[in-house]
Amino acid sequence: MIAQVAVIGAGTMGNGIAHVFAQYGFKVQLIDVNEAQLQKALATITKNMDRQVAKGVISEADKQAALANLSLETNLAKGVASADLVVEAATENVAIKLDIFKQIDAAAPAHCILASNTSSISITKIGAATQRPNKVIGMHFMNPVPMKPMVETIRGYHTSDETIETAKKLLAQMGKECILVNDSPGFVSNRVLMLTINEAIFILQEQVASASEVDRIFKTCFGHKMGPLETADLIG
Ligand code: NAD
Repeated sequence: MIAQVAVIGAGTMGNGIAHVFAQYGFKVQLIDVNEAQLQKALATITKNMDRQVAKGVISEADKQAALANLSLETNLAKGVASADLVVEAATENVAIKLDIFKQIDAAAPAHCILASNTSSISITKIGAATQRPNKVIGMHFMNPVPMKPMVETIRGYHTSDETIETAKKLLAQMGKECILVNDSPGFVSNRVLMLTINEAIFILQEQVASASEVDRIFKTCFGHKMGPLETADLIG
């Protein structure tokens, strides 16, 4: 059973992932090398929960309970020591992620599942940095995490069925659906999205159409909620 979650990286994605786990009753250690970033993440989570209270999504008591589930930590080994699940959402850099996974593998309990929120790095490669590749999985949350109902879930070459089932059940507990895909650079979402965004930017540069016209074509012709350039602005 998963009760304790460690989230590594307190940036855009890490604060959203920590928010959702804390909201759904999990004890969360939010870990970052940068103390200021942790404080900023806590302020963002509090502000976003205030917004949920104002909209009636959660009560003030739910917010207080969720914030009480959250602890901040700069020491990675200490932060993952009693975790049942680690979700890594640190900077998208292969060397940084491989180093983090080696450290987590050494410090987390043997039963702990290790997930990466990477947008594009091979889950098989990340798993190979550990002694437990069967427990390594991709959980690609979308931004903003509290608002997005779907998580692209990635099976690495060695990821076990048991790990996948646990991840699916866990995501369902938080009201998130999951689509399971096989490991491939950029997986499904970013392999398609990044080409689309690049082409949309070239179209703008070549003055084929304005940014709003590009976006409107996708919205009105294809029924997309957002156009590629709006999406690029959102994800940064
Ligand atoms: P970000 O730059 O906002 O945050 C990254 C955080 O990681 C920073 O706070 C940094 O201090 C921290 N960090 C770096 N090295 C660390 C280490 N060794 N230990 C602990 N913390 C460390 O990045 P982000 O946009 O939140 O992206 C995080 C991950 O999520 C990336 O893998 C990215 O590809 C993925 N992702 C991003 C989005 C998005 O829309 N931004 C969407 C889906 C997935």
